[in-house]
Amino acid sequence: MKHFTRKSLMNKSLNLAKKLIEIESITPNDNGCQSIFIEELKDYGFEFHKFDSNGVSNLYAKKGNASPLVIFAGHTDVVPTGPIEKWNSEPFKATEKDGELFGRGSADMKASLACFIVAIQEFLDENNDHDGSIGLFITSDEEGVATDGTKKIVENFLHNEQEVDFCIVGEPTSATTFGDTIKNGRRGSLSATLVVKGIQGHIAYPHLIDNPIHRVSSIIDEIKKISWDEGNKYFPKTSWQVSNINGGTGATNVVPGQVEVKFNFRHSTECTPHQLKEDVTNVVKKHAEDYEIHWDIPSEPYLTEKGFLTEVLSQSIESVIGITPEVSTTGGTSDGRFIAKICKQVVEFGPINESIHKINEHVNINNIAQLKDIYKLTLKNLLAHSDEI
Ligand SMILES: [Zn+2]
Repeated sequence: MKHFTRKSLMNKSLNLAKKLIEIESITPNDNGCQSIFIEELKDYGFEFHKFDSNGVSNLYAKKGNASPLVIFAGHTDVVPTGPIEKWNSEPFKATEKDGELFGRGSADMKASLACFIVAIQEFLDENNDHDGSIGLFITSDEEGVATDGTKKIVENFLHNEQEVDFCIVGEPTSATTFGDTIKNGRRGSLSATLVVKGIQGHIAYPHLIDNPIHRVSSIIDEIKKISWDEGNKYFPKTSWQVSNINGGTGATNVVPGQVEVKFNFRHSTECTPHQLKEDVTNVVKKHAEDYEIHWDIPSEPYLTEKGFLTEVLSQSIESVIGITPEVSTTGGTSDGRFIAKICKQVVEFGPINESIHKINEHVNINNIAQLKDIYKLTLKNLLAHSDEI
């Protein structure tokens, strides 16, 4: 009987992953994904708080009030498919082939969401009497602008009297082998558009013109030589890159009136957006009199020092699949940055990310069952034996 239960639950993560993949939830449209969480967890004593904001669906679910509170966090939205004719199977039809499950969002991150649900169900079935409480932060705005998603859940949570002790984000963090990487932080990201103005005119009359392309080249040259920091134990050095330059009228005898430059910082915790903005502005001022800089809202970096949660998660990965993960802060930004404001220990772990956002996105079917076991064991190690590890 027990064997039967385990087997059916193992298939359950796969089936739930399929069910979620088949919901066309292109960012920021949840399109009903979150109701699956409610349906699956309502008989387990969870309370549900749904709050929608500008077309984004957010769900905060919680069972219990005791400490520690463990949160699983993730997103139901997916990026657009790209040209459908390039897919080998329909992107919103979960398709099994050669041990892989194909579909948009399969790796990023509907398999993780399915594993959250089944890990919680199995844990509660097997441990009626556990310490702490369990919660979920689920949004449909991670792949988009991310202003109405986890950020809003966190703002709402601030009215709650309870602290979040541990958070596991289900982003696909594995690089080449499932289990090889967990993330304990992310670099910050800061983008801007700089417009440098000059005086347009005939190229043959240099005394009548002011060439903004020349001004911009001096600016870029000086900024790219700046060493912003040396990074630290967890982060590589801060880097600055130009992504676009637009200037010129198309004619070969005209100097343009203005040039637009777009650039981005990926920065460590050694720099703040405020400092970076100030340093850039000082260089720009040296080389241009007439300019405008429009800064995007920065994505701040976050970091969870190696410690209890990274240790528990690493040990769970080791016991389930025999791999010791690397603890890393590489990759783009994630919603971990918002949760870090209310939780000291945030880590991210999920499937292999090689196919995410691509045509033919997929997740390994065996890895889904293993991921569920890893989440469940992590929960068990946090809530069943939290004093002893
Ligand atoms: Zn994701």
